[in-house]
Amino acid sequence: MSEEFDVIVVGGGNAAFCAALSAQEQGARVVVLERAPEDEAGGNTRFTAGNIRFAYRGVEDLKAIMPDLTEAEIAITDFGTYTEDQFFDDMFRVTRNRTDPDLCEILVRRSFETMKWMHGKGVKFAPIWGQQAFKIDGKFKFWGGLTVCAWGGGPGLVQAETEAAKKRGIEIRYATRAQKILYDGFKVEGVQVKSPGRIYDIKAPSVILAAGGFQGDAEMRTRYLGAGWELAKVRGTRFNTGDGIKMALEIGASPFGNYSGCHAVQWDFNAPEYGDLAVGDAFQKHSYPWSVLINANGKRFLDEGADFRNYTYAKYGRVVLEQPGNFAWQVFDRKVEKQLRDEYRIKQVTKVKADTLEELAAKLEGVDAKGFLEEIRAYNAAVRQDIPFNPNIKDGRCTEGLAVNKSNWANTIDEGPFEAYQVGCGITFTFGGLRIDTEARVLDADQQPITGLYAAGELVGGIFYFNYPGGSGLINGSVFGKLAGVTAVADQKTNAGGLGAPIPA
Ligand SMILES: Cc1cc2nc3c(=O)[nH]c(=O)nc-3n(C[C@H](O)[C@H](O)[C@H](O)COP(=O)(O)OP(=O)(O)OC[C@H]3O[C@@H](n4cnc5c(N)ncnc54)[C@H](O)[C@@H]3O)c2cc1C
Repeated sequence: MSEEFDVIVVGGGNAAFCAALSAQEQGARVVVLERAPEDEAGGNTRFTAGNIRFAYRGVEDLKAIMPDLTEAEIAITDFGTYTEDQFFDDMFRVTRNRTDPDLCEILVRRSFETMKWMHGKGVKFAPIWGQQAFKIDGKFKFWGGLTVCAWGGGPGLVQAETEAAKKRGIEIRYATRAQKILYDGFKVEGVQVKSPGRIYDIKAPSVILAAGGFQGDAEMRTRYLGAGWELAKVRGTRFNTGDGIKMALEIGASPFGNYSGCHAVQWDFNAPEYGDLAVGDAFQKHSYPWSVLINANGKRFLDEGADFRNYTYAKYGRVVLEQPGNFAWQVFDRKVEKQLRDEYRIKQVTKVKADTLEELAAKLEGVDAKGFLEEIRAYNAAVRQDIPFNPNIKDGRCTEGLAVNKSNWANTIDEGPFEAYQVGCGITFTFGGLRIDTEARVLDADQQPITGLYAAGELVGGIFYFNYPGGSGLINGSVFGKLAGVTAVADQKTNAGGLGAPIPA
């Protein structure tokens, strides 16, 4: 095994593979270090549905990354557009204008070219008709700016990227955990790794960190996100425990972004401590805009219909965690039963069903039954039934006069059989991380680049605050991963900061 490379990539998810493929494309000898054993490799990326957000101007752009789209499919679909302006608007709105404007600019403006680049590397994409489009007058209409997923979802994406890397001679070392950055006080020289039975150094003038956030570490979650977060379930990999962030901070990197913030969703209350690859993301329960959410006191506590799911789901996990007992029940009646997403039909689900509300109340474990029945009565009376229900648009069918109103899609809960699903909080990834410049170089506390250190993906701070537009995690890793690979090699070619032997141009 060679212990010297041009570029070391720490991590084995989407950001890491984009970085590795990009550095290799520039002529570098690259090694990917994946902490997980091969059967659990792929990070959070592998747990995703592969949904990926990017700016596009219309179907012609989509054809560039999905050349297999047929004329018949195009004829029955209104793909609309998702312009850079729309992407910017979403980013600034959901982060309450806190997203770093320079990083956001890179994310948005390079999103489409990066998709084309990924496609060129062998990643296939497909439209997400099932999840993100509604059929209106015989035609599918996409909504929410999220139109495409990687073929085969997260597992398909990891597989395609792994194959692309291997085909290009990129070495992947599984069960190999980077535990320390080798740093002489001025420049990075490699990493120290631990693999079963062995601790050793791997030398390289460039290290790209793509090792994910700290959501998998209960202690860090509690320290940064706050009391109670040790109780959240982790939706994805157990291997993202903040290593990349910690290693970089140890050599003086600047922490940046929303350290007390994270992406967290409503997740089956009885889901295991970490994600289960066999179930993937199906513990999530994302049809809540058609439900009422009830806590242990039998009370509603948030606006289920504040916006399209894409723009609320990532912040509502926290709100559920804050409820007494850290749980809630999503309650549906027969009117919307057919609209529930596939994840409601999995076998590992915490669900009760009843013909009457009284019967249901008795079955809602941990809930004040009397309070629940009173709440539903008050809610039903407050629904503006004169406004038609339309799931395809923000229909304005709201409640009026309640302490917590529902802004859209308010249906009465009065037609049995009723179904209820118990949800807790599932954390997806953390928002705080390392500060990078617009070329993906990690900055130190003086905001100067740490020579030879780059970062991409979940462990970069400053991009997401409070909330997140669905599908942005993957594109974030792709855009900054690709960029980190380019910069790492360009810095070596120009010998910037006195990096080792230049890579031949
Ligand atoms: C259930 C679920 C569903 C999701 N759905 C979507 C979706 O549909 N669309 C979307 O855009 N986003 C989604 N996300 C978010 C998305 O997964 C992440 O934003 C994205 O995958 C992050 O990519 P990454 O490469 O930064 O991290 P990861 O893919 O998590 O990769 C991090 C890698 O680092 C490795 N690692 C950690 N520490 C070390 C170390 N010390 N040494 C070596 N390797 C190390 C890990 O093993 C892992 O391979 C979802 C997340 C989850 C959990």
